[in-house]
Amino acid sequence: MKKLVIATGNPGKVREIKKILEEVYDEICSLKDEGIAVDIVEDADSFLGNAAKKALTISRLVDCDVLADDSGLCVDGLGGRPGVYSARYSASGTDEDNNKKLVEECAALDEEGRRASYVCAIVLARGGQEIYSCEGKCYGRIVLEAHGNGGFGYDPYFYLPEYGQTFGELPAEEKNKISHRALALKKVQEFLQK
Ligand code: IMP
Repeated sequence: MKKLVIATGNPGKVREIKKILEEVYDEICSLKDEGIAVDIVEDADSFLGNAAKKALTISRLVDCDVLADDSGLCVDGLGGRPGVYSARYSASGTDEDNNKKLVEECAALDEEGRRASYVCAIVLARGGQEIYSCEGKCYGRIVLEAHGNGGFGYDPYFYLPEYGQTFGELPAEEKNKISHRALALKKVQEFLQK
């Protein structure tokens, strides 16, 4: 019986991860399902560092595989910011204030500087040991006006040139095929099926 605990409190992530890994595990649970409520401070200076901290901490509390992710937006002309601080980029940390700050900072950049990537790091661990880690990246450009209201966070400002749309405009099924998280999860799936 192969069981996985997903180290996140975000129900959207749990749904997305379950869909991709349900063929590999007999049972996939969230922290809530397991009755685990620990506050893990995401204070590493990289996405992989934060994902590892979460996966290793939870893997010491359960007797099965644990998967944790960390993600964010990196803008080329801002030296990779907001990066690991994506969730708390503005003082309030709301999507509205984060996006306002993003537009203010990107307004000073040329088109090349507004090139950006969404990054998702995933770490799989068991018994306090890392089993596998990887990153998925999705490339686009920041636009200064919101387009669409799908997705979440920075999505209405993240424009994908190949699709001629922002992540806010792209249907959820499409985003979930090409997103940074989907790309990282596919690598995990390939690793587990080997
Ligand atoms: P975390 O991985 O849950 O810590 O997410 C960090 C932050 O990155 C989120 O709060 C969002 O601001 C941003 N982010 C990560 N992935 C996405 C995405 O797919 N769309 C929009 N924003 C995202």
